[in-house]
Amino acid sequence: MKVGIIGTGYVGLPTGVGLAELGNQVTCIDREPSKIEALQAGKITLYEDGLEELFHKNVKAGRIKFTTSMKEGVSSADLVIIAVGTPPHPVTKEADMKYIHAAATELAEHLQGYTVVATKSTVPVGTGDDVEALISKKNPFADFDVVSLPEFLREGFAVHDFFHPDRIVVGANTEKAKAVIKELYKPFEGKTNMLFVKRRSSETIKYASNAFLAIKIHYINEMANFCEKSGADISEVAQGMGLDTRIGNRFLNPGPGYGGSCFPKDTMAMAYMARQNEVEMSLITAAIKGNAERKKQMAGRILDKVKDVKNPKIAVLGLAFKDGTDDCRESPAMDIVGELLLQGADITAYDPKAMGTACGLLGNKISYADDMYACLKDADVLAILTEWNEFKALDLVQAAHLMRHKQIVDCRNLINAEQAAANGFDYQGIGK
Ligand code: NAD
Repeated sequence: MKVGIIGTGYVGLPTGVGLAELGNQVTCIDREPSKIEALQAGKITLYEDGLEELFHKNVKAGRIKFTTSMKEGVSSADLVIIAVGTPPHPVTKEADMKYIHAAATELAEHLQGYTVVATKSTVPVGTGDDVEALISKKNPFADFDVVSLPEFLREGFAVHDFFHPDRIVVGANTEKAKAVIKELYKPFEGKTNMLFVKRRSSETIKYASNAFLAIKIHYINEMANFCEKSGADISEVAQGMGLDTRIGNRFLNPGPGYGGSCFPKDTMAMAYMARQNEVEMSLITAAIKGNAERKKQMAGRILDKVKDVKNPKIAVLGLAFKDGTDDCRESPAMDIVGELLLQGADITAYDPKAMGTACGLLGNKISYADDMYACLKDADVLAILTEWNEFKALDLVQAAHLMRHKQIVDCRNLINAEQAAANGFDYQGIGK
């Protein structure tokens, strides 16, 4: 199948590479010339485990190419996938649809023959109708169907999730469009759940899922606060809860709050849609408020450790919003660093993959270390903010020698509390 993908970001690029690997002829389109130039020159533009080698393999096989030209990517395509951003509107916090509307308008004039236009971006309910109207207005003779094809990949596992999706949701209003999507996902037939629903249901499933996961994280964080006061241990509590198959053991890790390019914006967009439809959704509102406070609380814990130290130095391990990615969008770590900077803190940070992204956002407001031990030198407190596996292997003996004061605020519960204490650390985890 010939597929055009609009947007080569964290969703568009892995999707394009994955579809090429399945044997499709893929053209990735982006309006940012620098991204396309890099990709054309064989340089991958984001970090995802396993993506780079698949990218090179499929470029070499001639199954994937990159362009800034909408005409080149759309005119011969059987399927056009829209994977542009839907960031929060700066004022109302609803999903800002300017990129979707622009993509729909720009692609319209290049449609040739019957084409399915699938929206992979996370979009408010009713967007399929808007995209349909925009295309028809611009090109009244176009023969097309608009399908909702929400993306459920997890950053850090994008390649794995592309090839092993736990469900494929399709919101298609015509049999002809359904047949095209069925053909696309033929390799997954019998291997995963494929759900065909109304387009509006499909658009809602994505928000309903993300809001639910955000609430689950907020819930376990509140339970961690309770454990800290009551003498229970959140790890044990989460383990006991997770054994109940109705609850499940995932998303029960307490931490510094949810972040990333999806949960914060999608909860806000869902809350906005609820208000627009005059439906009370108090759980989502509570999660949004609680999550914002959570990051301030974590910064408070770190600052509390150095309140009696003159010119304290804070070592930060982790800047990405989670492990496995270089993405710092809405990263709790970045928000916490921001809070610490407001209080005039002197920060040195290290992240295995996100140094470049973080530096682009923070510039010289903090110092950057080459590895986690360089980060600890003369620090008065260590704050662990992202759950990278390599931080679990921190050599506490070496850390104790390097730091000025032996204090750890572990917002991801990566370090063994007993071992930390045995090495003389004042250790504070979450929910213990
Ligand atoms: P991103 O910002 O990484 O990438 C979007 C890309 O689209 C950018 O490269 C931008 O230049 C390009 N673009 C914007 N308008 C364009 C246009 N008119 N023509 C061509 N290119 C254009 O965004 P992302 O993280 O890939 O997210 C895309 C969508 O997928 C969002 O709606 C997001 O909510 C959703 N989503 C993201 C994830 C995730 O993990 N990142 C997971 C599921 C769903």
